[in-house]
Amino acid sequence: TEKTMEQVVNLCKGRGFVYPGSEIYGGLANSWDYGPLGVELKNNVKRAWWKKFVQESPCNVGLDAAILMNPEVWVASGHVSTFNDPLIDCKACKMRHRADKLIENWCAENARTDVNVEAMTQDELVAFIRDNGVTCPGCGKSDFTDIRKFNLMFKTHQGVTEDSSTEVYLRPETAQGIFVNFPAIQRTTRKKLPFGVCQVGKSFRNEITPGNFIFRIREFEQMELEFFCQPGTDLEWFSYWREFCHQWLLNLGIKDEDLRLRDHEPEELAFYSKATTDFEFLFPFGWGELWGVADRTDYDLKQHQEHSGKDLTYFDQEKNEHYIPYVIEPSLGADRVTLAFLVEAYDEEVVDAEKNDVRTVMRFHPALAPFKCAVLPLSKKLGEKALELRDALARDFMVDYDEAGSIGKRYRRQDEIGTPFCITVDFQTVGDDKTEADHCVTVRERDTMEQVRIPIDQVKAYIAERVKF
Ligand code: ATP
Repeated sequence: TEKTMEQVVNLCKGRGFVYPGSEIYGGLANSWDYGPLGVELKNNVKRAWWKKFVQESPCNVGLDAAILMNPEVWVASGHVSTFNDPLIDCKACKMRHRADKLIENWCAENARTDVNVEAMTQDELVAFIRDNGVTCPGCGKSDFTDIRKFNLMFKTHQGVTEDSSTEVYLRPETAQGIFVNFPAIQRTTRKKLPFGVCQVGKSFRNEITPGNFIFRIREFEQMELEFFCQPGTDLEWFSYWREFCHQWLLNLGIKDEDLRLRDHEPEELAFYSKATTDFEFLFPFGWGELWGVADRTDYDLKQHQEHSGKDLTYFDQEKNEHYIPYVIEPSLGADRVTLAFLVEAYDEEVVDAEKNDVRTVMRFHPALAPFKCAVLPLSKKLGEKALELRDALARDFMVDYDEAGSIGKRYRRQDEIGTPFCITVDFQTVGDDKTEADHCVTVRERDTMEQVRIPIDQVKAYIAERVKF
């Protein structure tokens, strides 16, 4: 069945995945807060990334660098001079556009693959729009103002006085924290090439056109790997990480048919990049970039070596030679991929067509599900035993507990938030004057709705085995 953004957004707001930010004050445009279920989901996404990219990796290590960095970092990285959106307004309908995006859309519609928007100067953008009669998507006219540059970085002041010498930026990407720590990591870990450094953290961009729920926001989280390797081995490592990222998504339940790995044409590549692949996901609003995997050559480290005056080379003992490593960068947005998992998981299943019985079920991979299981006593009288089980399970995973309403309704509530297992404690579990206790519980699986009866003391192992990633 087709799903809409509205269905997913309503479920998120209604069940406590994501709320509009600062809601009681009328909100703050395009800011979102993760509620009790959303924080679990997003943490699980980040954990699944860390597990595969750091914990299980023989060559990667982690890092958590500061958000505020020496402003020179952003001069070296090019963000101060080039991290600008070229904005133009339509004179007829006053709609505001990014000139580069207007041209990109026009090229897509006109099957033009020879245009490299990123390499165009401001004047060239304006000339292209004029010469090709690119029109405003709002009103169809082709009459625009000049371009105004807009820096996407959030600026703030460090220190007590608003003195320009203390102007600092909120980082627009996490990657630079890795590059500037390259010598320290090398020195302290004594890692040999190839090795990678992983980081998860907040980034900030004053986006002109945020929107589509948590797809494009101004404060977001990134999960980035900078993988350093010997020049000449970079394209091999590029393919390796491209495939590794692909598998990570598939293993967590993203369907291949909803993914598109778009390799950049030579004309489209950034000037420092040898190869780039955009992983795109089919959102209800269309294809959107999830993950950018790029061979960035030695560009970043070279820039920092030049600007800092510090030696950022690597000493290759085997070759007895110093050189600047090449770097492969897979960069993933935690919020964007969380949205992809939400969209992919959303399902409305017809249970009984005649009775018009439809259940909403979030088919999350169990490792991503906010709650791994829910303990449901069949009657409030069984609360003591059920709570005992809840407490024991809660030492290992997030467990929900619900004793309100019919068991059928409680199952449906858990389906709606994607809980993979419901555990029912009934009178047979504890026994009464008529029945002897069997010390077993019923475990119902979310997707198949099948039930099995298993001994209470095996429940923890049963669930642990099934929520692994
Ligand atoms: P876009 O073209 O969508 O603006 P980008 O090419 O600028 O993205 P990168 O700079 O490559 O993005 O950032 C790497 C990843 O960070 C993206 O693939 C995306 O998942 C995430 N990301 C970037 N900007 C945002 C944002 N404003 N909101 C949420 N996630 C973002």
